[in-house]
Amino acid sequence: MIDTLRLTAEDAAALLEDGEVAAAELHGAYLEAIRARDEELHAYLTTVDAPEGEGVPIAFKDVISTRGIETTAGSKILAGYRPVFDATVAKRCKQAGLPLLGKTNMDEFAMGSSTENSAYGPTRNPWDPERVPGGSSGGSAAAVAGGLAPWALGSDTGGSVKQPASLCGIVGLRPTYGTVSRYGIVAFASSLDQVGPLTKTVRDCARLYRIIAGRDAYDSTTVELREPVEIPAAEDLRGLRIGVPRELNEVEGIEAGVTDAVRRAIDLCGGLGAEVATCELPRSVEYGLACYYLVAPSEASSNLARYDGVRYGLRAEGNGAIREMYERTRDEGFGDEPKRRIMLGTYALSAGYYEAFYGQAQKVRTVIAREHAALFERFDVLVSPTSPTVAFRLGEKTENPLAMYLSDVLTIPSNMAGLPGLSIPCGLSDGLPVGFQLIGPQFSENTLFRAGHALERALEFDFVPPRLAAKDRA
Ligand code: GLN
Repeated sequence: MIDTLRLTAEDAAALLEDGEVAAAELHGAYLEAIRARDEELHAYLTTVDAPEGEGVPIAFKDVISTRGIETTAGSKILAGYRPVFDATVAKRCKQAGLPLLGKTNMDEFAMGSSTENSAYGPTRNPWDPERVPGGSSGGSAAAVAGGLAPWALGSDTGGSVKQPASLCGIVGLRPTYGTVSRYGIVAFASSLDQVGPLTKTVRDCARLYRIIAGRDAYDSTTVELREPVEIPAAEDLRGLRIGVPRELNEVEGIEAGVTDAVRRAIDLCGGLGAEVATCELPRSVEYGLACYYLVAPSEASSNLARYDGVRYGLRAEGNGAIREMYERTRDEGFGDEPKRRIMLGTYALSAGYYEAFYGQAQKVRTVIAREHAALFERFDVLVSPTSPTVAFRLGEKTENPLAMYLSDVLTIPSNMAGLPGLSIPCGLSDGLPVGFQLIGPQFSENTLFRAGHALERALEFDFVPPRLAAKDRA
């Protein structure tokens, strides 16, 4: 019996290599788990029955174009859209022999922090189905945490890999901007979007990052990695200089149980040989969120202009007038959140306001990047909680977009600076997982993996949601 709740991608690869299970059998075990549990979780939008490849199966967030397989980005406006090409990350996974299990649920166009903005209904958290899995990559996170995929890809613009990883008790990497190709990723905010792995362990995360990262001729913002990705084996943190930015750890709204778990992890870092000191990141935390909510909607308003009922998915019926067809398609096809962002972004970019809003946000972004760069003269990594809260209840924040936006207050500042961030589970608060965020300078993924792995081993967090383990035994 293959225990999909516990099996890591690394374990699965070993089973395949030793000939203990066949690729089809492994894939079948996950499809079986999906049949058994996905009615409740709704992590998947589409599953693939006859996949190609002999390796460890994988799930993709539905923002990743897959040739011939419906790709909706969680939106009604893309319903029925089947790309004629594979995104570069999908192609690389194929070349590595990873069979696709399916496409996972997400907030519409990756706008959200709970997966409740999906046009296809919310995903539920495997730790407690009354709670959200985080977002926008909530389907990918729930699939991995719920044993419905050994590993998965998500995308992170303001925190959409790190935050759902945190809320689901798994590992998530938002890579350095420019190390993973955006070719074939449904665009949200192009200067921020980055695809990243969601996995059960840091070693799995490094393995998947190694497959997807590197220069791609189809995305001119990508670069070749400076050093090969190493699969971490370190057991201590000797020599590592860890900065604890006061603002990222003390900002209003961080739950006490989250602070406690993160504090314990920081103490453990000291015990593992790291040098730990507090530091400051005042402007990045004060202005990060506001800056993001000008830059991201501005870029979104431009990227979403292409959905006009002509080229993709949905087309509303009209009386034959082309303008009416455009308008009705966009009115019927987009949900509330994309509409809100299109309005915000169009306003911020309009003549007369551009300099005051968009232009100013770009300047603040430079300040944020410099503030981080200055800290990396003294520290190798910065740490904080990933999310100010554990998984919240479905419906708790849907009526209040600003409360929802605050979910990313701790992930956004480093994203604005283009920096990589790793979230690993560090403990429980009220029986729900707490995420620990490690941020490094650009291209420091190997350092993040080493530190994350050593800490993960020392923390001994069990990534299997107890209620599912109990159900399986029953
Ligand atoms: N929650 C943030 C937003 O709604 C970030 C989403 C993301 O990273 N895609 O924009």
